[in-house]
Amino acid sequence: MARQGGPDLSQLLARERRARLAAERLLELKSRELFAANRKLALQARALSQEVSSQREKFETEFSRAEALSGENTQVRQDLQRVSLQADRAERRLWEALETIQDGFAVFNPRDQLIIANKAYLKIFSGKAEIRPGVTYPELVALMAENGIVDLGFEEPGNWRARMVSRWETERIEPVVLKFSDGRYMKMIDRRTPDGDMVKLALEITDTIRYEEQLMEERARAEGANRAKSAFLANMSHEIRTPMNGIVGMAELLSEAELNDDQRLYAETIKGSGEALLAIINDVLDFSKIEADKLTLHTAPFDLERAIHGVLLLLRPGADAKGLDLMFDYDPTLPTRFSGDEGRMRQVLTNLLGNAVKFTLSGHVLIRVDALPGSQVDGMLTLRISVEDTGIGIPEDKLDHIFGEFNQVEMARDRRFEGTGLGLAITHRLVSMMGGDISVWSKPNEGSRFTVNLPLPVVASSSPKTERAPPTIRRALVVDNQQVNRMILERQLSMLGLDVTLARDGTEALGWPVGSHDVILVDYQMQDMDGIALAGVLRRRGETAPVFMLSTAPSSIEKPAREAGVTALLQKPLLRRDLFARLEALGGRLEPLAPEDEPALPAARAPAVPTGEQMKVLAAEDNRTNRLVLKKMLQPLDIDLRFAEDGRAAVTAFEQFRPDLILMDISMPELDGRAATRQIRAREGALGLDPVTICALTAHAMTNDEEDILACGMDRYLTKPVKRDALWSIIAEAAPPGARPIPAEPQP
Ligand code: ADP
Repeated sequence: MARQGGPDLSQLLARERRARLAAERLLELKSRELFAANRKLALQARALSQEVSSQREKFETEFSRAEALSGENTQVRQDLQRVSLQADRAERRLWEALETIQDGFAVFNPRDQLIIANKAYLKIFSGKAEIRPGVTYPELVALMAENGIVDLGFEEPGNWRARMVSRWETERIEPVVLKFSDGRYMKMIDRRTPDGDMVKLALEITDTIRYEEQLMEERARAEGANRAKSAFLANMSHEIRTPMNGIVGMAELLSEAELNDDQRLYAETIKGSGEALLAIINDVLDFSKIEADKLTLHTAPFDLERAIHGVLLLLRPGADAKGLDLMFDYDPTLPTRFSGDEGRMRQVLTNLLGNAVKFTLSGHVLIRVDALPGSQVDGMLTLRISVEDTGIGIPEDKLDHIFGEFNQVEMARDRRFEGTGLGLAITHRLVSMMGGDISVWSKPNEGSRFTVNLPLPVVASSSPKTERAPPTIRRALVVDNQQVNRMILERQLSMLGLDVTLARDGTEALGWPVGSHDVILVDYQMQDMDGIALAGVLRRRGETAPVFMLSTAPSSIEKPAREAGVTALLQKPLLRRDLFARLEALGGRLEPLAPEDEPALPAARAPAVPTGEQMKVLAAEDNRTNRLVLKKMLQPLDIDLRFAEDGRAAVTAFEQFRPDLILMDISMPELDGRAATRQIRAREGALGLDPVTICALTAHAMTNDEEDILACGMDRYLTKPVKRDALWSIIAEAAPPGARPIPAEPQP
């Protein structure tokens, strides 16, 4: 081929070769690139596939975890369902329970809005539409007040609302009882919970209130009946006392008349039985008075030691008859004058000492008075008075009952002892009224001890003086079988500054040489050698010291004592005041009782011709028997005695007779004793006369009689049955100067 106008073939071939080469190189390059890309792809594919597989794995674990979780979830959901079922059931139960109870239950939130309430609570508001959740407590209270749901009584509604609302504001809310108009009663109890809710309970207490009302009515009825009973008893005992006056008074007079032994026995039995009956009546009367709240205490200064002594003297004959020792131990450091009701005090002592004597068959009865340690404050002293005996005692299981009324420990056991079973009940109440207390210790067959602790005001200047025996008397010998008595005397004598020697009996006393003592105190009743025999021996040995003999009945041994050379007879139990007076009287005079020291004859029986005017006594008494009793009782007295048969006659007799003393009965026809006294006092005033002494004779012993009687112008009073001794001493006191003498008490 020619190279005609165009490139030659070689060029073409070269070009082609070059192009081929270039293409080959490109191909190679591309194929290398491809390869590299391929490899990269392969790598990427691998990585991808790895990632995929790891993702899958991850997915699979996630999936299985999700599956597990979903299982768990189901469990939880089931549990939740179960629990919520249980909670539902519990709540239902609670509500059912709250709905079943008849009491109202409600809860208010801290803003005092009602959140829940049971039917019983809602019923209070009788279905008012306003009562729904959200209503506030003050709204609720207002609704109750305004709709007449509650019975406000006389309270003003506004006031009631304010009271109820302010109740809720207190720290500890006091329950309140509401009366509803339908007659029901509810007790509202409200409590705040720690998070501020208010829980409210409305308790239905209608039955309880009704029952209480019923009880109160019954109690009032019973009290009324009891008061009526007491008034009846008091009246009866008054009615009984009047005729008893005749019985006891006449029997007393009869037993002193000239009688044969049988007759005397009859008279004394009537008197004894009459007095016993009176004692019972007095107990019943006192008890009725206490029950009816009609007993008042009359406080005045009195001497306690003397009062006890008086009671002991009264009980003496009974104790002597049984051979009991009656002992009295009054702490010599104590004052003796106190302010109190002496009569009631004596009654307490008589009951306790009387019981001690009654329930003791052998041994002793001891009354001891001291003060509770440290009890003296502001002029008050708490006394401890204990009455102790060696009697039959009281079984332990009965001790609690003996202060109750009509309680004799055991009927069978006590049938042999008389008594109403009222004594201790009265004693207990009297002691309480006086502000004290009484307790008892006892052991069967060993004895009993009754202890009264009683605070009493000390009467100023009654503190014991530091009394000293006269200087000539320094050494004392006490001879007594009884250890307690020796101890009491030792204390009393030591207080007076004496050196005291004790001897248990005559033999021991005689062991001392003559002249060892300045005074000798001898008990009369001793076992080996009685007091009189001992005194005789002492005198025969040449003993010149005064010998005091202590006896329970001094008058009965006067003659032998005098003969044995006894200096003085002292009444047992001994008052330390008397002991001191005796020692002081001795001073230096040591001579024994002179045989010519005969007691004077009673004035009324004195054979001498009386001088002076007769005292004039007017007795106003409507009861014939009682006039007779008075007449007989006063017969031995040298007085001019006249009678008036009623109050009017008494006023007339007063004007004509001008008596020195009027004995005035209280219940009389026409004009009673009070009215008659008022008229007499008026006349005295009008005529400018000195007031005559008027003494009431009364069987009344009810309701503040004493004040009543004294208020109408009388000066004194005696309760019936009148005792001769008391009457005589009143007459003796009222006798005008210069009148013929009146003995203050009958002479033996
Ligand atoms: P009573 O009138 O029977 O004496 P009280 O009320 O005085 O009534 O006494 C009640 C009872 O307590 C007596 O019946 C007796 O059983 C018992 N009692 C009281 N004091 C004593 C005492 N000192 N020793 C034994 N028992 C006593």
